Amino acid sequence: MRRRRPFLSPERRSIPRRLRAEIMLRQEDRCADCRTRLIIGFFVFDHRPPLALRDEADDPNDLDRLAAICWTCDERKTPRDLKDIARAKRLADKHQDFIERQREKVPGRRVPSRQQWQRVMRDLAPE
Ligand SMILES: [Zn+2]
Repeated sequence: MRRRRPFLSPERRSIPRRLRAEIMLRQEDRCADCRTRLIIGFFVFDHRPPLALRDEADDPNDLDRLAAICWTCDERKTPRDLKDIARAKRLADKHQDFIERQREKVPGRRVPSRQQWQRVMRDLAPE
């Protein structure tokens, strides 16, 4: 489906050293998910919820929404995140669709169904 408007998310920023230290301290140097001891170079900082699902104005480096997780947990988590993100975008597209149909609504008539709407748009499209 054509995307009607960009989905704006906060931009990923590097996490300052101090913030990293605070997160590690909070988690006692352990993975937030499996609690194994984290080894330097073998873990990542994870945004929770993922940045792609957040409002543009959100602070990407909010301490409470960052977690340090080991590579193993990160690998397991990424496909799940991608699925959630795709789903959220699908729903947003669908909603946007509804809003557009609603805008064209004729008083006293129902909002055209998705199918009816697509037919109208096809007919209006230049050859
Ligand atoms: Zn882990």
